[in-house]
Amino acid sequence: MKILICNDDGYQAPGIVALYEALKDFAQVEVVAPEHNNSAKSNALTLNTPLYVAKAANGFRYVNGTPADCVHIALTGLLDYRPDLVVSGINNGANMGDDTIYSGTVGAAMEGYLFGVPAIAFSQVERNWQHLDVAAQKARELVQQMAQQNLIGQAPWLLNVNIPSLALDQMGHMKLCRLGRRHAAEPVITQPNPRGETMYWIGAAGQAKDDAEGTDFHATAQGHMSMTPLKIDLTDYAHLNYWSQTVTKLQMVIGSAG
Ligand code: MN
Repeated sequence: MKILICNDDGYQAPGIVALYEALKDFAQVEVVAPEHNNSAKSNALTLNTPLYVAKAANGFRYVNGTPADCVHIALTGLLDYRPDLVVSGINNGANMGDDTIYSGTVGAAMEGYLFGVPAIAFSQVERNWQHLDVAAQKARELVQQMAQQNLIGQAPWLLNVNIPSLALDQMGHMKLCRLGRRHAAEPVITQPNPRGETMYWIGAAGQAKDDAEGTDFHATAQGHMSMTPLKIDLTDYAHLNYWSQTVTKLQMVIGSAG
């Protein structure tokens, strides 16, 4: 099995090193990851700056671009083979609920998925790398079991996995979850720079708004790993009828009957 590993924290982050070490024994593993931290870059592609690929002493390749750039380059020209799986992470911090829209960790996995390759995004819930060895072991177990049961290599899918920052004997089992929701982010933070101009810093992510049973927030708070299958179609199917009527009211032509 051939696995492409990416992340959004950069190729030197402890999380991607741990993931590589955990997977390299039973698969052909290649790392192509951003040179610098690209958290919250989602699926961004770099179109107006040339990208360069360099190789670190440990064999990891790094790119002066985004997570999606890395996977895009790897799949469309850098690698001379097609990986069976794209794995992203292990991220430094949770990617639950609305985070999945912003997450570069999910973005890297999504880029694989968009190219028809099954993909998994792994994140550790806390942001301190505590028990990273346990998270890497759990990631390995999941990938290895999926490979053994021939669950990789069929139609592409995209999985978002969050792992609580717990010791092995505290770790619960894996729960299938829907995404929860967060409140809107905290306010922007302003500071004067040395020249008296105002700097704006994006505020922290909001607290959980929907962390009911069945969500990723709920499962991980109970000490379980959460797994959520993601899709890309953002169409609001539940309200299509409402919008159909609304567009009619707007006296604009809709659909083939219009
Ligand atoms: Mn990150």
